[in-house]
Amino acid sequence: MYRGLVASGGIFAIFAVFLIVLDLYVPLGVSVFGLPIAIVGAVMFAAGFLRAEPSPPTPHPGKKFCWYCMVQIPENSVECSNCGLHQHDLRV
Ligand SMILES: [Zn+2]
Repeated sequence: MYRGLVASGGIFAIFAVFLIVLDLYVPLGVSVFGLPIAIVGAVMFAAGFLRAEPSPPTPHPGKKFCWYCMVQIPENSVECSNCGLHQHDLRV
């Protein structure tokens, strides 16, 4: 189960219901968008149960991700070779 996709689909579906109900009380014509958003939300919700949870990104051995630009840099780097910013995971 891909929890992020299930949660996003659920939020889409709730938002679609909100648009449809809102149009009942304040006729703005926004319920036109309710049905397509509800369909997309339902598809995302269902697909979330079928797909596996994606693995988090992991750097190669001996490397780490820069805190700012996410480029892989050597694990003991104090500054990023790409963006030049100080890495805050080192206790110096
Ligand atoms: Zn960087």
